Amino acid sequence: MPLQNFQYDMIMREYNRRQAQNRRLLEERKADAYLKHPRLREIDEEVASLSAGKVRALLSGEESGLEDLKAAISLLSEERTALLLSLGYDADYLELPYTCPYCQDTGYVGSKKCICFKKAEIELLYTQSNLKEILKKENFDHFSFDYYSDTIKNEATGLSARETARRAYDTARNFVRDFDTSFENLFLYGDTGVGKTFLSHCIAYELLESAHCVLYFSAFDLFDLLAGSTFSKKSDSSGEEEFIYDCDLLIIDDLGTELTNSFVSSQLFLCINERIMRRKSTIISTNLKLENFSEAYSERTFSRIASNYHMLKLVGKDIRIQKIFLGGK
Ligand SMILES: [Zn+2]
Repeated sequence: MPLQNFQYDMIMREYNRRQAQNRRLLEERKADAYLKHPRLREIDEEVASLSAGKVRALLSGEESGLEDLKAAISLLSEERTALLLSLGYDADYLELPYTCPYCQDTGYVGSKKCICFKKAEIELLYTQSNLKEILKKENFDHFSFDYYSDTIKNEATGLSARETARRAYDTARNFVRDFDTSFENLFLYGDTGVGKTFLSHCIAYELLESAHCVLYFSAFDLFDLLAGSTFSKKSDSSGEEEFIYDCDLLIIDDLGTELTNSFVSSQLFLCINERIMRRKSTIISTNLKLENFSEAYSERTFSRIASNYHMLKLVGKDIRIQKIFLGGK
């Protein structure tokens, strides 16, 4: 998804800030160096006036004298460099410094985004995803099948917890691999602590690393935010809502733990439906049993999910409790 306007503006504001900061730094350096050696100021003033003369000559097509001007400027530059070096500065000390030399802090090299722009984009997406810290630990590299038992069976399929986890893992991997070419949604369900949230974090990490816009919300926070933007008439609230409907991947975690009422139920339908229509992927995780889902929300919500989501059940013992017994790893 291309950046939304407000995201683009945030990044460009950062470039403006950098440019202003570097200009200030240059002014400070000049003031300092001129004080140490007033000849430097004279040279800069002479060069400025000679350069202006050069421009005038070029514009008027006056070729004669141009060579002399060039030679004079070059002599002054040499003198300036020698002075700077004698004062212990680098030769380019009084040039405008750039945080990124590739794009000179414009964000673009020619018409292409600079590597630093891409980095800023990913950084911004991480910050906005609400997942910045947790994903350092919760990603595919740290996924372990050791927590899944070989003996506990998924009654519906006859597969062991570990086999079930392996299939879910593969599905999650494929979800990431095909993300840009196919439209898929995941519905992760099963008891508390069987790795549903962890698996959704693994996916989020991979997609953020490839500069996709991922938003993560616990169901509680999501409905809280939607309630806030519905009931208060904040001027920027529609932007937030739009962002929820339009981001590349929306993760709604722990659905069923929030207070369900008719508002939540209708917002959930709206959100799910809107994203399906826009062909934007969503991952939902819940501890609810399927048979209780339509009761908690609505039949029409469940039917939208059942026909548009890949249903993935995880089984096993509570991993959080296992970790505590293993020494709080
Ligand atoms: Zn750059």
